[in-house]
Amino acid sequence: MVTTHTSRLAARRGALYKRWAGGRRVRRVAMLSVHTSPLHQPGTGDAGGMNVYIVELARRLAEQNVEVEIFTRATTGDAPAVVELAPGVLVRHVDAGPYEGLAKEDLPAQLCAFTHGVMQAWAGHRPGHYDLVHSHYWLSGHVGWLAAERWGVPLVHAMHTMAKVKNAALADDDCPEPTARVIGETQVVAAADRLIANTDEEAAELVRHYDAEPDRVAVVHPGVNLDRFRPEAGGRAAARQRLGLPQDAVIPLFAGRIQPLKAPDVLVRAAAVLLERDPSLRDRLVVPIVGGPSGSGLTRPEALHKLAARLGVCDVVRFRPPVDQEQLADWYRAATVLVMPSYSESFGLVAIEAQACGTPVVAASVGGLPVAVADGRTGFLVPGHDPRDYAEVLRRFVDDPQLADGLGAAAARHARGFGWDAAAAHTADVYAAAQQEYRRHLRSAHG
Ligand code: UDP
Repeated sequence: MVTTHTSRLAARRGALYKRWAGGRRVRRVAMLSVHTSPLHQPGTGDAGGMNVYIVELARRLAEQNVEVEIFTRATTGDAPAVVELAPGVLVRHVDAGPYEGLAKEDLPAQLCAFTHGVMQAWAGHRPGHYDLVHSHYWLSGHVGWLAAERWGVPLVHAMHTMAKVKNAALADDDCPEPTARVIGETQVVAAADRLIANTDEEAAELVRHYDAEPDRVAVVHPGVNLDRFRPEAGGRAAARQRLGLPQDAVIPLFAGRIQPLKAPDVLVRAAAVLLERDPSLRDRLVVPIVGGPSGSGLTRPEALHKLAARLGVCDVVRFRPPVDQEQLADWYRAATVLVMPSYSESFGLVAIEAQACGTPVVAASVGGLPVAVADGRTGFLVPGHDPRDYAEVLRRFVDDPQLADGLGAAAARHARGFGWDAAAAHTADVYAAAQQEYRRHLRSAHG
């Protein structure tokens, strides 16, 4: 029996099919970023790599003639309804729930309100305004699922992180992602016409953990802004001078959101091991931690300071609030090495940004980091999270002052392979493939 709903849906799809008979490329994308705004400063709270990813991708897509409208939840009362981020890129603020004080965990209750806001914006346009929906993170995936079906366009989804992957590699003091998220992610994977994974590893995880159809998963490596993150003529010395850091210091840098998942504590503990083994280092070891609390780190924002105090390394560890990317580039240039001991990382943008500035990386061998870092050539990958292992690798930079320069030059070359232009071009290819397949299905459904 054909229900009223399905027959109406069939009629609408028939109308859409006629409109598409001429074959139109993807010209405008509705990009969904429910829980965090591309206008927010990354490096603290809910703002991180995904925000950077969306901004850079949207800009480059617009330069390649794909307009992007990004929908995000309004988090202040005075946020204008629409902000032009760049030519061809709009940010649309959607009212859904209170502006402040709403944790990410509470957002599932606001998805209906958010979807309503997206639908209202759509209703103000001519039919066919958006050619495709690209959702980021599972919360947006749920909005995208409904919007794409209602508009008769394909849904492309990027997970960014996955509950099952995070839960399988939790730090000792971290709390697991809730079952509701796992269920929500599974639904989005089933609904999406295409999934974009950062690496082959992430694509395999989507298939392994969420039963994604391998043909629907496309791998697009994220990029790095090579105009912003680049080596500079004055090199490390000039950057250190600008930041007021000692010229002769060994500087292992942590940059990013401070939470157990990112394991900045492993670096602090490794610094303590280094000093225990060689107290003479005390005068020339500086460990900057640039970023602010986030995720489960918000429940104990003082934990890392307390750890540094307990280990007696307060004098070498320097906490700095998040900085804009121009200044972050200087921190990368000033550092001897960037340290990223994460438990889970779908790619790890800071690893590729630091390398683009000519700085090697010591990273945990997890997730996308083995793609971002060429082990032994642009830095070192460390299996596990034992601070002694990290101390041992960092000791190599102490013993061989030339090591950072050698690896750093290779790192800058390696990073040049990760431009956002290429990432956007690959993403546009995924859009085209999703659209073609969507049309093929419509054609077969309408003879
Ligand atoms: N970042 C920043 N200022 C800071 C610290 C970090 O702008 O003080 C940015 C950084 O440039 C990077 C992003 O935050 O692009 C972090 O991305 P990553 O993939 O490393 O981690 P995520 O936040 O996605 O877990």
